[in-house]
This record gives sequence, C-alpha cells and structure tokens, in this order.
Amino acid sequence: MKALFFDGNKAEYREDLPVPVREPHQSLIRVLLANVCSTDREILKGYRPGFKGVMGHEFVGEVIESGDASLVGRLVVGELNEGCGACLYCRTGREKHCLDRKVIGMSKDGCFAEYMTLATHLLHVVPDGLTPEKAVFAEPLAAALEITEQVKIDPSANAAVIGDGRLGFMCAQALALTGVDLTVIGHHADKLKMFEPYAKTRLAGEYTVASPYGEGRGYRELTADECFEYVVEASGAPGGFDLAMNIVRKMGTIILKSTYAGKKELDMSLIPVNEITVVGSRCGPFEPALRLLAEGKVSFPDVELYDLKDWRKAFGSKAFKAGFDFR
Ligand SMILES: [Zn+2]
Ligand SMILES: [Zn+2]
Repeated sequence: MKALFFDGNKAEYREDLPVPVREPHQSLIRVLLANVCSTDREILKGYRPGFKGVMGHEFVGEVIESGDASLVGRLVVGELNEGCGACLYCRTGREKHCLDRKVIGMSKDGCFAEYMTLATHLLHVVPDGLTPEKAVFAEPLAAALEITEQVKIDPSANAAVIGDGRLGFMCAQALALTGVDLTVIGHHADKLKMFEPYAKTRLAGEYTVASPYGEGRGYRELTADECFEYVVEASGAPGGFDLAMNIVRKMGTIILKSTYAGKKELDMSLIPVNEITVVGSRCGPFEPALRLLAEGKVSFPDVELYDLKDWRKAFGSKAFKAGFDFR
C-alpha cells in the first residue's frame, strides 16, 4: 500500500508497505482523508526521536474489518492514544496519559497510508450527513473542547485566545459556543479577519509585555477591565505565555494549549501573588466535537487536498489545513 513513512530521520513516500494486520482488539480502517497537523511537521524536525513508522493522526476512514461487526462499513474517526488498559491511568479515564500508551503517527503506525489499524474502542462513528471533509476536523476540535471540559467558563465573564493560527481558531470556536465575551489576539491582521464573525480581535503589538514582569520597556500594568478572566495560550510561541501573564486578571485562569517544546524563564511569584490558575490542556472529547460539526455549529475553511506522493507540498502548504485524499 501507499504510505508516508518516517525512517527516524526523514519522511519517505513508499508504495511497498504491506496492508497492516489487525489484532483482535483492533479494527482495520481504509483511510479516506487525512490532515497534516503541526505535530507532523514537528516530527520531521526531530520531535519524536526513535519513532519509525507511518506518520499522521488526523483521519476519517471506513471500517473494513473489526471485532465489532456493527462497525464494518461505517465511517469513523479515531482517538490517538492507545493505553495498556490495565494501569491506574487507564482505569481512571486517563488513557491518554498511560505510560505505555501507543500514539498513532508518533509511536505506532498512523494514518498517512491507505490502511491503518486502531483499537476499536478509540473509534467514533461519524454521524449521518456529516461529510468526511468536515468529520476530519473532529480530532483538533475535540482538543479545543477539552478547555470547556477542564475549566468551567462563566459566560458572563470575558476570555482571550492568544494565537491567530489553526489552534487558535479551534479554541476560539470552542469558547465562542459558551457565550463568553471573546477576544482573539494575534500578530497577523489578515489572519485575524477569519475570527471577526464571532470574536473581537486585537493585534498582539497593542500589548506591551514586561520582561522581567513589571519592568519591561514601555510596560504598563493593565487595569482589570482591560484584562481577561480566562486566557487561552494557543500561539505556539514561548512569548505567548508572557502575554498571557500580562493580560490575565488576578485570580484568573490561563489555559495552555500550545505544545512547543522548550524551557522559559518565568517569575514564579506572580502565580501565587496574583492567585493565577494555570491549566495544561491536550486531547479532548470526540463525541461533542462530532455533534457540533454535524449540527453545523462550528465551521472551518476547506482543506487543501493533495495526493500522498506530493506530501512535500502538503507539508509546506500555507493553507488553513492541508491533507491527503485517498479516495
Ligand atoms: Zn493534530
Ligand atoms: Zn495504561
């Protein structure tokens, strides 16, 4: 079969990989569409040393074989993290944190291939009427919905999303549904336009960031009215956290969605002194994501689709989302 294979150093397009054989607890899936995520680009830069296998984790496909006969022929999307099923994390609803988990496209063969296998309990049936083109957004939207799963958003308060890219867009859609007074802060006036139907927008440059906190050039401590009860950091850049610390209200909450790998200097005293809650947030619930997509309550720009052999173009695409069409 055709697949995009990561050999530990680089990606290569291959046509000689065998169709995977499912284990009893898994289903065999024919991939229809698969989207490129920034995590896939990070893998090419060395984010997952030691991984060798098929890349990709955002997909929609058709179940070909499964221990659950009711799934055969159904359109599905799937979660990334397959735990051991036995440890405390797996037994207490934290499978994505299992120490022995296998993650598709990161430590186990993923979805940039004509066929893939995945544990059957991680599959979610795509509701009738939801097209593959839309269903493929279930995984990143679910990750954004994790915010409202973790933090009780008071809709009478205000919230800011830092970041005007794909992650910011997903997070802003999830927050807009709560009715909260929403502002999106980004560096690009052109990208911010996309948010205007449901959020106020501000340029990041309008804010000064203290470094170290409270003493930066031109820095001014913002008033309570200028600050936000909830700040979602989705910029993918280390500076996003500094800005978040600057614009969050006393006793407010910062939700970290960016997963940039790196260390940063931080005045830790500000968190206890200002009683800031910092919440780390990763993968989220698929069922509400599929429901929102099916009901048209969230929408995304069309995916720019490529043939798998043109993977370099897809990875280099500046489109909102690029992906592969296997149909
Ligand atoms: Zn992703
Ligand atoms: Zn486990």
